[in-house]
Amino acid sequence: MYIHYPALAMLVVLHLLAAAALPYLWSFGIAWPEASYHVIAYLLGGFGITLLYHRAWAHNAVKLNRFVEYFFATCSTFVLQMPAKQWISSHIKHHAHTDHDQDPYNIQRGFWWAHFEWIIFAPVPVVELPKRLQNNAVIEWQDRHYWVLSVFLNVAVPIALSIGFGEPWWGGLLLSALRVAVMCNVVFAVNSVCHVWGTRPFTTEVSARDVWWFPFALGEQYHNYHHAFPRDYRHGVRAADFDPTKWLIMAFAKIGLAEQLFEMPQKRVDAAREAIEQEGRSVETERTDQHA
Ligand SMILES: [Zn+2]
Ligand SMILES: [Zn+2]
Repeated sequence: MYIHYPALAMLVVLHLLAAAALPYLWSFGIAWPEASYHVIAYLLGGFGITLLYHRAWAHNAVKLNRFVEYFFATCSTFVLQMPAKQWISSHIKHHAHTDHDQDPYNIQRGFWWAHFEWIIFAPVPVVELPKRLQNNAVIEWQDRHYWVLSVFLNVAVPIALSIGFGEPWWGGLLLSALRVAVMCNVVFAVNSVCHVWGTRPFTTEVSARDVWWFPFALGEQYHNYHHAFPRDYRHGVRAADFDPTKWLIMAFAKIGLAEQLFEMPQKRVDAAREAIEQEGRSVETERTDQHA
């Protein structure tokens, strides 16, 4: 059986350190600037994936200002989802082959396969970028500096904060591991949870679901809409849908930092929803596919 040992080691160590953070927190607590650092890291790192890797780069849903790209390319290292090149390439394969063999996180192979097993038990998918992203200066820059940035933001700064607040130096490391583990699992859950539980109001062609109760994904929980219309910069298409990434893109567009927002015409969205409603399949909340 194939095993990608570096990935296995990294995930095991990360989760052991994250587990150790719980008794640490119980004993030592956390200073508010440290807590703020990790909350901000969660949000900025999360947007690094949802806004930049996913919507702007993988799906070309919006064109961001170069400065914004550099900023979120840096922030994305808070999440340890690997350099953009690799993430985008795998993700494009996921959309092209959803629920089939060439889908790297094919849900038909089971919940845990889609969640994390694919990272350990399958060779790293070959990196293939669409033409528009080849030789992209920001992507190349991030690729060169990924690990330096990541160690600085996830190890050096948190340790410095711990020392600064008179706690054991390794406390910062544990807190960071806890945050990174939570973030990784939220990203993984979009591939697992959002392909198993929830509703399919826009397409029943694929397993992807809208999972309104999973707001931690910063808007990406509307995964059925996203698979139906992947290029739309909105995942929560209704105005009130909890999609902070959509709101951030709208805010950036207002101040001139984002342009060319791609929006599916409302007619097409309504037609998709009505077609499903006519089939009487929109309200299913349980998994109906024969997932392993
Ligand atoms: Zn998906
Ligand atoms: Zn996508």
